[in-house]
Amino acid sequence: MPEKLARPMKIMELGEFALIERFKAGVHHSDGAVVVGIGDDGAVLVPAAGMVTIAVTDMLIEGVHFDLAYYNFIDLGRKAVNVNVSDVLVMGGLPRYALLSLALPGGVDVASIDQFISGFFEACEVYGISLAGGDTSSSPGGLCISVTLLGEAHADEVVKRSGAGIGDGVYVTGTLGNSAAGLDILRRGCMGLNHDDVYFLTQRHLNPQPRKDAVRLLTERHLATSMIDISDGLSSELHNIARASGKGISIFEQKLPASPALLEFTEKTGVSALEMLLHGGEEYEVLFTVDHDRVKELDDLIARGLLDATAIGVVNKDTDVTVVEKNGRARPLLPRGYEHFRV
Ligand code: ADP
Ligand code: MG
Repeated sequence: MPEKLARPMKIMELGEFALIERFKAGVHHSDGAVVVGIGDDGAVLVPAAGMVTIAVTDMLIEGVHFDLAYYNFIDLGRKAVNVNVSDVLVMGGLPRYALLSLALPGGVDVASIDQFISGFFEACEVYGISLAGGDTSSSPGGLCISVTLLGEAHADEVVKRSGAGIGDGVYVTGTLGNSAAGLDILRRGCMGLNHDDVYFLTQRHLNPQPRKDAVRLLTERHLATSMIDISDGLSSELHNIARASGKGISIFEQKLPASPALLEFTEKTGVSALEMLLHGGEEYEVLFTVDHDRVKELDDLIARGLLDATAIGVVNKDTDVTVVEKNGRARPLLPRGYEHFRV
């Protein structure tokens, strides 16, 4: 006999304490360095000897960073962790402890929160992160998710934005513009693209993966003089490194790495590939610079297939960022984020 469908339970029926218990129940592996975890006024953590702490935090706000029309709660849980993991990695650290603050409208289904929890802990497990605490509040508006991540680094492995020197090679990992194209597809539809391209591009937006292997290789070999993840678009991040380092950067249009899926997308939509490559945000690819004397070593790692990265330019003594067009002309590159692709 078919059961009568029960109405989904809402957060406001569950209550704050039962909600916190659900997060507490997700903490599986016992991390000896967490002396006091969820359940007291604060977490007590034992710092690893000789390491410095890297602290990062990132918010995901409904209506600003995501829209529930195309985001599911599993992806949100993963992304809340992964965007922070990316920041810890590019500082030269490894993530260790997370604090999770949530403001939730009372009408959210408990089942949705359980999905969020599964995505959140899945990402934590991948990177060996322990959830050590957080805060939970009701929200009169949309959903707000804030994760604070604490990581550890060897002091001499910390990589800042300010370390780029004149003559350094400029590199990016992977390919650019995919996430912005994916967002456009999520908002406007598939636009005649095949399933594989749609999946590849939309996943880059919904489920970005920190470039851990590439970044750890660079960090452990002390290869990067500066490093940043491309969350606000290549043009903005180039300016961030140039400004922090007090140098100029020149990049070459024809060297910017594009995926086959992005080229299909730009062909089908008429959107400029160059716009996507230069200004598309939410990439979580990594922009870094390498000392002139070690460029050969870096290029060798790429040639041997040990590092997925592309040389795109060089650091110079100016203070601005320029892009050399295909015809050889150089023009100033203004910092523009992916906001421009909002339709
Ligand atoms: P307080 O009143 O001192 O702020 P709370 O009742 O907010 O304490 O939190 C109780 C415990 O539950 C604390 O240890 C806190 O870190 C933890 N906690 C609250 N919300 C979350 C959450 N969303 N994720 C993980 N831990 C949480
Ligand atoms: Mg609290």
